[in-house]
Formats: sequence, C-alpha cells, structure tokens
Amino acid sequence: SYDIVIVGAGHAGAQAAIALRQRKFAGSIAILGEEPELPYERPPLSKDYLAGDKPFERLLIRPAAFWPERAIDMLLGHRVVAVEPAARTVTTADGAVVGYGELIWATGGHARRLSCAGHDLAGVHSVRSRTDVDRMVAELAGTTRIAVIGGGYIGLEAAAVLSKLGKQVTVFEAQDRVLARVAGVALSRFFEAEHRAHGVDIRLGVGVDCIVEEAGRAVGVRLTGGEVVPAEMVIVGVGIVPAVQPLLDAGAEGGNGVAVDAHCATSLSHVHAIGDCALHASVFADGLPIRLESVQNANDQATVVAKVLTGTPEPYAAVPWFWSNQHDLKLQTVGLSTGHDAEVLRGDPATRSFTIVYLKAGRVVALDCVNAVKDYVQGRALVLAGAAIPPDRLADASVPLKDMAP
Ligand code: FAD
Repeated sequence: SYDIVIVGAGHAGAQAAIALRQRKFAGSIAILGEEPELPYERPPLSKDYLAGDKPFERLLIRPAAFWPERAIDMLLGHRVVAVEPAARTVTTADGAVVGYGELIWATGGHARRLSCAGHDLAGVHSVRSRTDVDRMVAELAGTTRIAVIGGGYIGLEAAAVLSKLGKQVTVFEAQDRVLARVAGVALSRFFEAEHRAHGVDIRLGVGVDCIVEEAGRAVGVRLTGGEVVPAEMVIVGVGIVPAVQPLLDAGAEGGNGVAVDAHCATSLSHVHAIGDCALHASVFADGLPIRLESVQNANDQATVVAKVLTGTPEPYAAVPWFWSNQHDLKLQTVGLSTGHDAEVLRGDPATRSFTIVYLKAGRVVALDCVNAVKDYVQGRALVLAGAAIPPDRLADASVPLKDMAP
C-alpha cells in the first residue's frame, strides 16, 4: 500500500510524481504503468524518433536513476484493470492488489482503431507508443508506398517524416480539409499545399471501406467509391479512446474520458484524474467539458493535483498551448480556436511565416503561428485577456502583438 498510487507512467503521471516531490511531499509514491518503458515523451514519436534522428534514451522524461533517488516506485508492465474505491485498492491484470491513500489516474488513451475489415492486418500501424513506432520502423526498408488514414497532427507529421525518407505517401482524410478538428480553414489549406509541394498526396473527403489483404498483410486501401490504392504500409491516425473503463466501472462519472472538477477531482473520493483522459470544463471552451491531448495539459494538470495533495489547492486555469512540426514548418498554437467566428491573417503565407488570429464575438481566443515565434509568445497575453482588438489592427503585421495588449 502507498500513500499515493499513480496509474499510467506517461507524461501526466510522471509529472505528477515529480511535482509532488518538488513540493516536498514525503509520503510513499508508486507509479503503475502498462508499458515496459520508463516515462517518455510521445511528441517525438511522429517526429525525430520516427525519422531516426533521436535515440529512445533522449525521449525519457527523466534518467532512470531519478526515480529511485526520489523514492518513486516504478511498477512497470502492469495494467490496472479494476479500482475498488471503498477499499481504496487497484487490481492489475496479473492479479496484484495495491492499496492507495490517494489515487491519480493518468492513463491517457489508446489509439483508436478502424472498425473496417483489415484493421488488424500486419502492416497496419498506429502511432501512440514506442512499440508502435519501433514496429513501423522495422518494416520501412521493405516499404515504398504508405497510406496514412487521418489528416490530423499525428498523421500529417508522420507523412512529412516518411516522405522525407523517400516514401510515397498518401493521406486519406474523411473531412473536406486536414486538421479540421483543431484549426481554421486557412491553416488547413496552407498545410495541404505544403504537403503537396513536398510530394505527399492529400486526398480529402474520402471514406475508407477496408484495408485490402494479401497473404495476411495489408497491400492497400479500398475507398468507399471502390478505388483501391496500393500501399505496403497503412498508418492509422484517427484519435484516441481514453483509457478510463476501470474508473467508469467503479462508478466514476464520465464517458469520453473521466469527468473532473477544476481541481482534477473525479466523482469518486480520493481519486483524481489528469492528462489526456481527464474531461474538464474549460474557460477556454466557454466552460464546456473537453479533453485536451497535449503536453501542456498533462503537465499543468499534474501541477494542479500535486498542489491539491500537498494542501495548497488552486484551480486549473492554464492557457492551452500546442506545437506541431511538419517539413520545415514549426506550428505553435495558443488558446483554443474551437467555435471561433472570425479569422485574421497576419503576414503572408507565401513567406512561410505568418499567424492566424481566431476571434469569437470580437475577442481573441487563439492563435496559430507558423514559423512566427514572436507572435506566439506575445499572443498569449491577448488570449488570456480575451482582448477585443479590431481585425484590421490585428492584421497589421508591422505592429507587434505586445503593443496591442489592452
Ligand atoms: P500518456 O502519455 O499516453 O500516458 C499514459 C500511460 O498510461 C501510457 O503509458 C499508457 O500505456 C498507460 N496506461 C493506460 N491504461 C493503463 C492502465 N489501465 N494501467 C496502467 N497503465 C495504463 N502533444 C503536444 O503538446 N505536442 C505535440 O507535438 C504532440 N505530439 C504527439 C505525437 C504523438 C505521436 C502522440 C502519440 C502524442 C503527441 N502529443 C503531443 C500528445 C501528448 O503526447 C499527450 O498529450 C501526452 O502524452 C498525454 O500524457 P498522459 O500522461 O495523459 O498520457
């Protein structure tokens, strides 16, 4: 039994343990994780790690010696399958029962699979874990044509890396634009053009009927129209399913994630949830419940729970931010553009350095900055303030955003 048990040895779980020790929490801490690896950064999985530019050791969130030095017990290779809130225990798939004083649920999610025929064939990959990417890389040598299903950040990042490695990449997106869930139209169009200029075939508004099989392996993608596009590898980037079933089974409120309040508390006593799996009301989304899949959210919610458990609670109020690297473009996002009703362009996309400012009811809610670090840094204050700035002023790239702050 431990004073604090953290389930999930990913970004949020690791950061919660780190933050607890930083805040002088002296009780016992264990992290239970189903993956065999010590906590590592996932963003490079679709970027430098996939490209072979960064060895796995450099993805570790802390060096191996850190955890025993801080008296944090790492119990890896154990999947938690049940939570018993009354007894304050968790049970692992191998039957171990571990008691807790406080439980921090930080399980992220598992890659969503396609539901169509052929979704589990050899040659079909998701991009969520180190194991996923190692398997993919091991098959790359024999691969020329790659189908990427899903034009979100992860699919597009993988497409950029793989086309640079000389592969023939086609991205299939069901919506009529890439990044439809997370960005405005102008940004989608810019990235589509960039990918096409780099030789990536982007196919929009297409449905996948099934993955075509030959001798147990994927050999192509059949579209709903009947067309078959040959591919020796299929990469599926269609989002995650939050890993919350054991908590829901134990009676926690939620559905698409586990519901938490402003202090990351679930509806079960002594159980908090943080990171990708935590469904929280966000002031940056009109108070609606959302899940954020970002390093920022994982880290900042880890701090929220560490503060609660060390007796200095403060509600979660951090500004969301995110980044994505595709080809030689560095996209940085601050705020949430969901539900915006106007977009203002600052700068000229042809220069490959520009910003899109998103407004809702005349107020700045988010910025997408492409190779525009200054706007990203200075725009944060505008998002935080919900600044009301006339569009023609925002569009004037000769005036720094910091001079527009109210
Ligand atoms: P995770 O890091 O997923 O950790 C959860 C851990 O819990 C996993 O190891 C999981 O296996 C384990 N687990 C699940 N269920 C159980 C169970 N029942 N028992 C025990 N263990 C369990 N974010 C950005 O901000 N910028 C980026 O550029 C970016 N790029 C990304 C690229 C890729 C390819 C991926 C996959 C993600 C990327 N993200 C990025 C998102 C970011 O990595 C996640 O938001 C972050 O990892 C969330 O942390 P987490 O701890 O909530 O979940």
